[in-house]
Amino acid sequence: MAKDPVCKMEVDENTAKYKTEHMGKTYYFCAPGCKAAFEKDPHKYMHM
Ligand SMILES: [Zn+2]
Repeated sequence: MAKDPVCKMEVDENTAKYKTEHMGKTYYFCAPGCKAAFEKDPHKYMHM
């Protein structure tokens, strides 16, 4: 399981619909809103 860096929810990488790559690492999200929040300010969330 991966962790949604925005809301800290656990997300299954195999079924995750929302993901983004940032500096070579893939981040998974539970919802489009979490993905949008991350992409808007990745540095706020990436140190998890
Ligand atoms: Zn989320």
